[in-house]
Amino acid sequence: MDAFDGFVKEYTGISVDKFVERNFRSVAFFLSHCHLDHMAGLATESFENFLKRSANVSIYCSEVTAELLRSNSRLAPSRTVLSRLISLPEYFPSNINILNGDKKGTVSVTLIPAGHCLGSVMFLFDGDKGKVLYTGDFRYYADQIEKCEVLLSLSGTLTALYLDTTFCDPYSRTFPKREQCIRGAVRQIKEWTLNTNAVICLDCRMEYGYEPFFVALHQELGEKIHVSSKKYSLYRGLPEILDALTLDGDSTRLHLCAPGKCIRTQRKTDRELCTIKLCAQTFVVRKRCGQLYIANSRLSYSYCYSMHSSLDEIQKFVDFLKPDSIVPCAVPHSATVHTILGYLKTSDITEAEPVNIPKIPFQGPTFSLNDGSKNADIERKDCIEEEMLSFEDEVVLPRRKRMKNS
Ligand SMILES: [Zn+2]
Ligand SMILES: [Zn+2]
Repeated sequence: MDAFDGFVKEYTGISVDKFVERNFRSVAFFLSHCHLDHMAGLATESFENFLKRSANVSIYCSEVTAELLRSNSRLAPSRTVLSRLISLPEYFPSNINILNGDKKGTVSVTLIPAGHCLGSVMFLFDGDKGKVLYTGDFRYYADQIEKCEVLLSLSGTLTALYLDTTFCDPYSRTFPKREQCIRGAVRQIKEWTLNTNAVICLDCRMEYGYEPFFVALHQELGEKIHVSSKKYSLYRGLPEILDALTLDGDSTRLHLCAPGKCIRTQRKTDRELCTIKLCAQTFVVRKRCGQLYIANSRLSYSYCYSMHSSLDEIQKFVDFLKPDSIVPCAVPHSATVHTILGYLKTSDITEAEPVNIPKIPFQGPTFSLNDGSKNADIERKDCIEEEMLSFEDEVVLPRRKRMKNS
């Protein structure tokens, strides 16, 4: 559950990842990444009207996020929003005007890659109220923290840490690295495609975050992935990802389109529909975190693909940074703010006041590849023993090329 009201309390005038009425007293808005649950209010008329009334208000984000917003009509920010968008480079501090009490003031902000999805960043605010880090959604493996110089320099210096605690509970103790998940899923798909009648249905539900998987799959199999025109348009301006996708469903056996909508993914006797689902929640709910995959049946596998840090990774992150206080930005269903802070106890952490925010429903595609199909039941009965793979053998993610301006 979302537990963050958007305000960075140390610095009046700043709102992060919330663009709703309550935040309209801010003058500097920050967007950490393009997932809809972090864009609440961004595309509304009331935010647009607020911007029209407030000439000095700006919205800051990473260069990639700005490009995604500008090139993607589905995210639907208004022209007014786009005109106030200011993209900032990663790692370089930029001075931002904010309200400081009744007076105007400035704060320095540094963007740090968050390892969550395309363009996702953390925001480091630094000014007269001390250093404050907002992680947004983030995933850092334990061995990645010490490779990031900016984070290295922050150890023991943070006044407050606004932390992504989506998986801050014992049911999410460890997750495999995403590179391992991609390698395993691609290997499984390759095995299925040895059967020429196989059609592969990909179940990847968030707007962004699976791009390395798409690219690796395309490179390994030499086939493109069929997507809807909506999905395709999400990547306008990112040729290296578009290259792995196609709008022509007849040309490929790899399908990310809505199941049954495309002629190839309709159930017929001359084809074998195989499903790969990439997610982490299934593993948490079924208390299988730490496993690389679950074989639901011979033709249906779920791979543990987490865009958020596991409990072990969060604890390592907090142990390393040693902040004076922590504000949990999400509360898992099995936890409370109090229990979360218990998992993160370091010597002198101050408990933040919990805030009560209504849950913002997920607005992305909500199809289920098995729902309503006769074979789903057969597949469930046919459930084979769940296996566990070792997590060795990392794959190297394709390097992201610089985007062309479009
Ligand atoms: Zn996200
Ligand atoms: Zn298709």
